[in-house]
Amino acid sequence: MLSVQAQTKIIAHRGYWQTNGSAQNSLRSLEEAHRIGAYGAEFDVHLTSDNVLVIFHDDTIQGISIQDHPYSAIKDLTLSNGEPLPTLESYLQRSLTLPGIRLIFELKPHKTPERNREAARASVEMIRQMGLEDRTEYITFNNDAGLEFIRIAPQAQVAYLNGDLSPARLKELGYTGLDYNYKKMLQHPHWFKEARELGLTINVWTVNKPDLIRQLIHLGAGFITTDIPVEALSIVAHPSTN
Ligand code: MG
Repeated sequence: MLSVQAQTKIIAHRGYWQTNGSAQNSLRSLEEAHRIGAYGAEFDVHLTSDNVLVIFHDDTIQGISIQDHPYSAIKDLTLSNGEPLPTLESYLQRSLTLPGIRLIFELKPHKTPERNREAARASVEMIRQMGLEDRTEYITFNNDAGLEFIRIAPQAQVAYLNGDLSPARLKELGYTGLDYNYKKMLQHPHWFKEARELGLTINVWTVNKPDLIRQLIHLGAGFITTDIPVEALSIVAHPSTN
């Protein structure tokens, strides 16, 4: 049956990592997200003390604070699937071989407002160098970074993660979307309508239960970020039978 509503899009949280040979935020997780037909792969980016952008979720890797150390201190570390710790550059290079999949670029918070802005600038510069502006959507918990993305990449999609600003406020600040914990959206169900009327995109994270995925689709989530993207894609494809 045709629907007047756009179909909800599924984003693999830290890539598709719950599958053989994969690991969170690995190049393999990006390839796997592409293989299963996810709309996008989400990944987490930090800037080292000597300004190399690397991909990893936590602030520390094997006890080493990424942002407080030069890249040389972490470059030989490996992920749980044996891959080298990816740099942003290596991840983007791989994405060039995987047409279509969107890059849901989470810039992690850094320690000072200036460092957050520097990290945003370095991120946009590399995305431009690689010609990936049209495939990249920026997300961040940090408003200094978010506002810098908006300032220097005014055509880009930029969504805010922290859940503490209303859709109207996000619109005023220049964000193109909200990307909130689903619990926050369930506490403020009117935000779905408010965001939609303002033309903001609505993404929710991290939704890992099929019933909850169905509920959020019904409420109007345009994007769902999940650790179970295969199941989520099946729900979107067959909403009445799953
Ligand atoms: Mg993330």
